[in-house]
Amino acid sequence: MKGSVAMEATRRRAQHGANGKSSEEGGQPAQWGRAWEVDWFSLSGVIGLLCFAPFIVFYFVMACDQYQCSVSQPLIELYQGETTLLSIWSRAPSFTWSAAKIYAIWVTFQVFLYMCVPDITHKFIPGYVGGVQDGARTPAGLINKYEVNGLQCWLITHALWFANAQYFHWFSPTIIFDNWIPLMWCANILGYAVSTYAFTKAYLFPTCAEDCKFTGNVFYNYMMGIEFNPRVGKWFDFKLFFNGRPGIVAWTLINLSYMAKQQELYGHVTNSMILVNVLQALYVLDFFWNEAWYLKTIDICHDHFGWYLGWGDCVWLPYLYTLQGLYLVYHPVHLSSVHALSVLLLGLVGYYIFRSTNHQKDLFRRTEGSCSIWGSKPTYIECSYNSGDGGLHRSKLMTSGFWGVARHLNYTGDLMGSLAYCAACGFGHILPYFYIVYMTILLVHRCVRDEHRCSSKYGKDWKRYTDVVPRRLIPGVF
Ligand code: NDP
Repeated sequence: MKGSVAMEATRRRAQHGANGKSSEEGGQPAQWGRAWEVDWFSLSGVIGLLCFAPFIVFYFVMACDQYQCSVSQPLIELYQGETTLLSIWSRAPSFTWSAAKIYAIWVTFQVFLYMCVPDITHKFIPGYVGGVQDGARTPAGLINKYEVNGLQCWLITHALWFANAQYFHWFSPTIIFDNWIPLMWCANILGYAVSTYAFTKAYLFPTCAEDCKFTGNVFYNYMMGIEFNPRVGKWFDFKLFFNGRPGIVAWTLINLSYMAKQQELYGHVTNSMILVNVLQALYVLDFFWNEAWYLKTIDICHDHFGWYLGWGDCVWLPYLYTLQGLYLVYHPVHLSSVHALSVLLLGLVGYYIFRSTNHQKDLFRRTEGSCSIWGSKPTYIECSYNSGDGGLHRSKLMTSGFWGVARHLNYTGDLMGSLAYCAACGFGHILPYFYIVYMTILLVHRCVRDEHRCSSKYGKDWKRYTDVVPRRLIPGVF
């Protein structure tokens, strides 16, 4: 689900030309999936991101800590000589052992829940798909099994959080906010450690050698990953764990900690903070409710595990996806009823489109088209493709329901929801709007990248599909 668009930009450029064979072209198995070769533009993008992405995260968090969330003020002061990079750096809270202890307990607890508590929720929650599930076919032709227990881990973690806040008082609910920058150093250490481990492991003891991709460029390999589905033992899957657990379980806890801080500082919680908490919790819960579906999304099906996912899940996601809540601690915005209701409506409509579109594709693919979409049998285009082992496979591209309106209406819904989070923060500063800018670039680029991959995979069948559904995100426009 996560990562930076600039990272995706470099990947797509690298894909171009390397993945250009569909099942019909060239008389050899198609090389769909991530890049096999890297050009100089991609390489400079990769090196730039490896060097600067941690500073982008630092800049936003520091702007809140030192400049009341103004992103321009530090630049103005630097320009006017009123401050220096060194003084900004020296004012930032440094690494502390107490933050390291909190972070170590947090990650260990999530590993414990992921590995040692098999899912039981699917046995008593109707409609929820959990427990052992199959992933999608990898380029080498494998189908991995996953223990889907994210919803259960989320519920246990949050139940403990509330039990602590109400009864046990082992720690303050503001603990995350109070240690935010020291925790960021810890998250960086984990992000780099796991990426480096995955990189080394791919050379020395890969989980599935046939699904590894080496581009010949060490920086690209490090960033975009070599192994497709690195695992430790049979069940510890890096992608599923790092994306979902330190990243997305943390998201709602971080927001709750911001809410507690607002209460502590101002004696009340603003309607804007409640909106951000509710809308983002809906998105997070949706993710865990549909974790089995997530196994079929691009992150798991097509991305290799490198710094892009490892560091991105540990640092980029928890620190930048939660900027709205952080901003509201410094600026407790009170929204008028009209403004609050408009934000709520935008968020809910966006969520409805996002979820329904994803659901329609999932249902269609699971039933192989034997289902009802908007009250009738779905229409589709039959297509074929080759996997890396040379096998010929068949698939279907739906042309009805939301998938007949535009080719990625799920992204459009996601963007509407993202805009709602930002709009909940009012119009005082641009910092909370970073998220919608980032998501727009990410999803537009992801759309283009996905379509390039689909075109490589399905060849002329993809062309037939785009003739029937000509728009990507907005019907009649784009
Ligand atoms: P999709 O779920 O849209 O999956 C795209 C894939 O679906 C294609 O590669 C193709 O795969 C298949 N497909 C395309 N068109 C059709 C069709 N007409 N009928 C059937 N199958 C089709 O993309 P993502 O995995 O990127 O996104 C999943 C969700 O996650 C989205 O809602 C997105 O908004 C969200 N997301 C959120 C992010 C965040 O950071 N918050 C980041 C990224 C995504 P195949 O090879 O199987 O044919």
